Amino acid sequence: MNIILLGPPGAGKGTQAKKLVDERNMIQLSTGDMLREARSSGTEMGNKVAAIMDAGELVTDEIVIGLIAEKLEGDHAGGFIFDGFPRTLGQADALGKLLADKGATLDAVIEMQVDDDTLVERVVNRAKEAEAAGQPVRADDNAESMRTRLMEYYKKTSPLIGYYYAKGDLKSVDGLASIDEVGAAIKAILG
Ligand code: AMP
Repeated sequence: MNIILLGPPGAGKGTQAKKLVDERNMIQLSTGDMLREARSSGTEMGNKVAAIMDAGELVTDEIVIGLIAEKLEGDHAGGFIFDGFPRTLGQADALGKLLADKGATLDAVIEMQVDDDTLVERVVNRAKEAEAAGQPVRADDNAESMRTRLMEYYKKTSPLIGYYYAKGDLKSVDGLASIDEVGAAIKAILG
């Protein structure tokens, strides 16, 4: 089973993806994590995207499609969770093609709905909690980058809601509920 978790920054995509990895033997493919890894290991690509990520803008389709294509080379019986990818219509088309080339299908696109005030609050709190725990704070988890991230989401990513609705793949969950309740709603969708 291959699924997309779709939603704005701070909607809880990563948290739910990790639950699905534990519970269903799925593989989480987070382009954000892959890009952060490229940055911390200091690859040429990592250095190139650093400033873009810190500002809260999207990196090019070419880069993220390349990262995903590499990960999709192997097969995995439990299936893939796309977390933070696709984020543009170009990426969505590319993913459809990559899956079709493998003879695989997209089984569900789960939209996690959270209001904007809560998103900003969650992201700012995530930074405060990381700081208090002595963990590294994401450079883009601040109110200013968050505004850009939200703007990028509404301009470039939210059209995917209509795109997947029209394809018949879209399901929505209330991302304001507790982590376990959201998990249960996703479970009910996936069966
Ligand atoms: P995330 O961890 O998903 O919030 O991603 C952090 C940052 O990585 C984003 O703000 C973008 O700069 C970049 N990024 C992650 N995934 C993508 C993507 N699919 N397309 C473009 N940029 C991305």
